[in-house]
Amino acid sequence: MEDAPKIAKRRAREKRVISQMIAIYCSAHHDKRDHRSYSGDMICADCAMLDEYAVMRTERCKKMDQKTSCEECENHCYKPEERQRIREVMRYAGPRMITKHPLEAIRHLLGK
Ligand SMILES: [Zn+2]
Repeated sequence: MEDAPKIAKRRAREKRVISQMIAIYCSAHHDKRDHRSYSGDMICADCAMLDEYAVMRTERCKKMDQKTSCEECENHCYKPEERQRIREVMRYAGPRMITKHPLEAIRHLLGK
């Protein structure tokens, strides 16, 4: 099923935001960042796998039209291990998005 234009836009933005968050987290925690993330930042091999996974989950998310955030979604599409990792990333990078990507962060928080 094709996304409505509004949903397609939202999906594209969410993929970019999640990827940027992983990059922020990685640059603070890991060395040897020799992979490129979906958002175009340099990240490590481990985070590149998580990045790919998170982007794929967002690509396939069926709740894009109703959910406010993955955290509040009852449809737990992440595997437990990835879910744990992505929560850590969000907890760390969420507040930092405000200074690094102010516009993206604000839009994300408003969900609009
Ligand atoms: Zn990393």
